[in-house]
Amino acid sequence: MRRIVDSTERGVYRAGRWLAGLFGGAKSLAALLALALLATGCFTVPVTGRSQFNLFDTADDLALGKEAYVSVLKESEGQLVRTGPEVELVRKVVDRIAAVSDDPGFEWEANVIRDPEMVNAWCMPGGKIAVYTGILPVCQGETGLAVVLGHEIAHAIARHGTSRMSDTLVAQLGLEVAAASSDEVAAYKEALALSVQLLVLMPFGRDDELEADHIGLIYMARAGYDPREAVDFWRRMSELSGDGGPEFLSTHPSNENRIAAIERLLPEAIAVYEASGKGSARNSNSP
Ligand SMILES: [Zn+2]
Repeated sequence: MRRIVDSTERGVYRAGRWLAGLFGGAKSLAALLALALLATGCFTVPVTGRSQFNLFDTADDLALGKEAYVSVLKESEGQLVRTGPEVELVRKVVDRIAAVSDDPGFEWEANVIRDPEMVNAWCMPGGKIAVYTGILPVCQGETGLAVVLGHEIAHAIARHGTSRMSDTLVAQLGLEVAAASSDEVAAYKEALALSVQLLVLMPFGRDDELEADHIGLIYMARAGYDPREAVDFWRRMSELSGDGGPEFLSTHPSNENRIAAIERLLPEAIAVYEASGKGSARNSNSP
């Protein structure tokens, strides 16, 4: 697990650099603080229809994700898989799912990072995706990969990253933002730094995970991938122990709760799958 600690430290460093850009840019602190005070639950999550509190707009998601993505790719440069069947398969599945998702105009990009020990994948705000090679054997092919990527794309479209940042900001600042002194500005920056770090390096909460499972199931079904594979995938994941990323080996929700929730959603997802008219992608399970 040492590697995760290292990348957390790097995340804090990256967050600091991002903050320097934010506070030097056009988006002034005052404007953000005003938003923090005025905003109410102002984003409706596609598929589930849940109303979400979010201080950021989709242009912010794009800018934030892009900046953090460039940093991660730079750090992983030596491990980037540039060509070959793994990259082709990942990009094919991303293309199929993004095409049927509730895409608000994200700039989709997917890369594969060679790290056989890392059982993980993520999608940053704005559609920037990484898949670590360690998760590919658990996927066992295209449909299993669609479970993973449907779930990750769902986190981005449901805007869980910037929603979590918004909650963190409001929780840390409370109403004191109205009279922001230099001390409070410093605290504000610290809160933001923590939040950016959370984008990639910390597990999402249980509710966000279950929502991403739900939306991901519908998206994979729309794309013509049999959603029943999600149950098999999470069973395989639950048998795993050892190193992995925070996203896929997080303990909340527990695997049993997660599989039970997916099974409850399957009738809805299977109806979407059958209506997609795209045939059984479950049988095209080899790269
Ligand atoms: Zn997740």
